[in-house]
Amino acid sequence: MKSIKRCENQECRDVITTYKSAKRKYCDDYCKNRAGYLRSLEINAVIIEKDKKLKENYKILKNLIAKGIRSIFEQTLISHGFSFNDLHERRFIKINDQNMEVNNIYDIDFIIEEKQLIILN
Ligand SMILES: [Zn+2]
Repeated sequence: MKSIKRCENQECRDVITTYKSAKRKYCDDYCKNRAGYLRSLEINAVIIEKDKKLKENYKILKNLIAKGIRSIFEQTLISHGFSFNDLHERRFIKINDQNMEVNNIYDIDFIIEEKQLIILN
């Protein structure tokens, strides 16, 4: 007995009554294309959201630099809306023979040490 299959196009979800292959996921090409399009919108939304958060983070750090503040507690940053989940790629550099993890947002480099964010540049 074949199990009930539903079209994977979120806007459709119709039961697929006739299918030859168990791999069939959509009613037809329209649903297949539509599902692909909706998925790409979702991916774009994630990228746009991430970019927005990066820009907000960047603005917060820029404001700190403008005020001459180079180190600040993580908790304080979070309360100002800083998101530690939205940073650029981290990298490692050697300082005094120690591997330091350096994070950055655009042109601002910083490290996190003893619960403080320390701006390097
Ligand atoms: Zn469908």
